[in-house]
Amino acid sequence: MARHIYVHNPFCARKCPYCDFYSVTETSLCEAYYQAAVREAELTGSVISDSAGTNPITDIGGRDTVYFGGGTPSLPDGRFICELLNAVRKAFNIASDAEITIEVNPSSASTEKLYGYRKAGFNRISLGVQSLDDEVLKTLGRLHDSKGAADAIEKIRKAGFENISADLITGVPGETLDGIKKDIQTFKDLGVKHISTYSLSIEEGTPFFDRYKKTIEDLVPPDTEREMYHGTRDFLNEIGYETYEISNSALPGFKSIHNSSYWNSCEYFAVGAGAHGFLGDIRYAHRDDVRAYIEEMNTITADDLKAFLEGNMGGLKSLYAEEMLTKEDRMREIPFLRLRTTEGILLDEFKKMFGIEFEDVFADAVKRNIDKGLLERNERTLRLTRSGLDFANAVIEDFL
Ligand code: SF4
Repeated sequence: MARHIYVHNPFCARKCPYCDFYSVTETSLCEAYYQAAVREAELTGSVISDSAGTNPITDIGGRDTVYFGGGTPSLPDGRFICELLNAVRKAFNIASDAEITIEVNPSSASTEKLYGYRKAGFNRISLGVQSLDDEVLKTLGRLHDSKGAADAIEKIRKAGFENISADLITGVPGETLDGIKKDIQTFKDLGVKHISTYSLSIEEGTPFFDRYKKTIEDLVPPDTEREMYHGTRDFLNEIGYETYEISNSALPGFKSIHNSSYWNSCEYFAVGAGAHGFLGDIRYAHRDDVRAYIEEMNTITADDLKAFLEGNMGGLKSLYAEEMLTKEDRMREIPFLRLRTTEGILLDEFKKMFGIEFEDVFADAVKRNIDKGLLERNERTLRLTRSGLDFANAVIEDFL
């Protein structure tokens, strides 16, 4: 049975003005941080049972996954990253055919680091390109330009990676659908196998909020944003990428197994400050605090960690239980997780997991949204229609 591990790498060279993810610029803490993360991985591995973090019902094809996300995992010295991956693989007994991803930014993707990642066992790169239009990149405050991004893809391929994903942000002021299509075609020509497209979201507390909170709807009217979403998706599908989730499309054989594990309600371990995990019926997290994390991981005992992971989740500084899910909570999570996927809710799987028909639990919400033309049902699945994609959040909320 498959096991999934998320590792958070909270360091960034500087804060992008639209970003509200947890990240810090104090790279002087890298060495202590990665030592602490190695200790967390080793201690966790020493206290969990062979079956912990695996789930026979939601297992999606038997491959383990490890995902180094950020922040900017390609910013720290490659030695720290490779040592941590080594520790994670050993501690969690990760299979040799696992999908092992690292997020990389073009500005820190050196050839030396990329070869090191390949040698350490990473076999998938997720590149934070965001756009291949230099004006859009300037608006987003990114450190790279379009040439830097294309060069990074070449270097990644030369280092031996075939499984390459690139991120794009849509709905940026000044961006056009034609420009996005051009970027996507360039990605395809450069050998990118997986493309994630995210709509720009203006988050409170970011410089973009102050800059655009009053003007974003004039600069990018909601109708234009939706046209861009559908136009982007149609173009991806036209040139061979299959959209398997609202924001994710892949050439055949290159869907992200790690991301799919989230939408399949699989359990996963979390390593690192700001990382979130899911074990048994508990969603747990590490606080967004690098210093508290380093301190705790240097002093925590195996017994403390064991007690925490077995559900006795009090008394720790940086680790805490976010939510203890009841059976009803877990049932409500299924529409939240699965309606984002193109496959939709697998009705037989739901019955297998909870012993009850999906429509016996959610009859009203199902009927209401089918009547509005936002959901469609066949024998096996219930999923969003094309117009339902534009109201995905409202449909999902109807099930909560
Ligand atoms: S590099 Fe990524 S995580 Fe870091 S600040 Fe920019 S968007 Fe946020």
